[in-house]
Amino acid sequence: MHVRKNDIVKLLAGDHKGATGKVLSVDHGDGRVLVEGVNFVWKHLRRSQQHPHGARIQKEAPVHISKVAVICQSCNKPTRVVMKELEKAGRTRICRKCKQAVTPEG
Ligand SMILES: [Zn+2]
Repeated sequence: MHVRKNDIVKLLAGDHKGATGKVLSVDHGDGRVLVEGVNFVWKHLRRSQQHPHGARIQKEAPVHISKVAVICQSCNKPTRVVMKELEKAGRTRICRKCKQAVTPEG
């Protein structure tokens, strides 16, 4: 997976093409990411103690990983990242454009 939690990504396809947001979570199983503020859908809740009449809430829906590009924090552009094995530090991701390591904040 080239996308990690807390990355800033740009949507490349779909209804929200061009939107950017922070990755809230990554689902490694089916290759989807949840991006903050992107791809809102209405969720319909059943009646419950909290919502005696049911409710409609807006919530982010996950988007497929192939539809997002990581934005490099160094050159501030959507980029492809290359996995690189470092001798001691393990694996890191390198921006193809500016060759800087791409690390999520926080
Ligand atoms: Zn870069």
